[in-house]
Amino acid sequence: MRLVILDTATDVSEWAAKFVRNRILQKKPGPGNYFVLGLPTGGTPMGMYKKLVEFHKKGELSFKYVITFNMDEYVGLPRDHPESYHSYMWENFFKHIDIDPEHANVLDGNAKDLTKECDEFERKIKDAGGVDLFVGGIGPDGHIAFNEPGSSLKSRTRVKSLAKETIVANARFFDNDINKVPKMALTVGVDTVMDAHEVMILITGVAKAYALRHSIEEGVNHMFTVSAFQLHPRTIFVTDEDATMELKVRTVKYFKGLMDVHNKLVEQPEDPTAPPSAKRLKSPVNGK
Ligand code: PGA
Repeated sequence: MRLVILDTATDVSEWAAKFVRNRILQKKPGPGNYFVLGLPTGGTPMGMYKKLVEFHKKGELSFKYVITFNMDEYVGLPRDHPESYHSYMWENFFKHIDIDPEHANVLDGNAKDLTKECDEFERKIKDAGGVDLFVGGIGPDGHIAFNEPGSSLKSRTRVKSLAKETIVANARFFDNDINKVPKMALTVGVDTVMDAHEVMILITGVAKAYALRHSIEEGVNHMFTVSAFQLHPRTIFVTDEDATMELKVRTVKYFKGLMDVHNKLVEQPEDPTAPPSAKRLKSPVNGK
């Protein structure tokens, strides 16, 4: 596991966006070679989306050959409701980039047959060749996507009833009225995310500190479903200082000591569009 500790939530957004950018560029996507990206919603990733849009507008990053799969969607909320995850993704990300809308997959929480919708979603991920990078957030109860405490760590995409804690946490998006928050959602399972080649989890704020401690310093436990990622060979937790408040000093010191290594992951790559000869000219030659 990598644990990247940055000063502020803004730094987390920037680091995460650069990481996504680099992974997409490294794959050199094109016809027949799509980058498959799993995406979250919520307050935490907003800044990352903003930054990715900036990279796109500057011409550094195209999403033309990117396929996305979102983690979850509320059941029964109209698709065009401002708080649906369809609306969130469209407003904050998709409408600002060059992704083919056909390639932006968000679960349909109004499907006639919800189980079929979930099964189809799993099939689409498989057909896309699996997820290269799944980006996620966590709830104060340590959930990943809507895999609430007690969810099977082997779960796949399915219908889920939301925990009281999640409903309370999300009331801020529904006029602070818990009665307006949908009580059910469709969500990818823990195992669906575990199948991704790489996973990056963004955690900011003191409200997540307790969950972060349980998820990385305690054992794998279905009461903190994100703890399952201790068993994933390529997981990166990206946090701000506030989220580390409950960690042991030893844990924080150890991972902070690795920041030089971690920061190499987000260095600006060479111009990926430059022809090979131009790239070679950039290195010192000295006639040798
Ligand atoms: P948040 O939600 O980013 O809005 O805190 C994360 C989550 O509940 O998974």
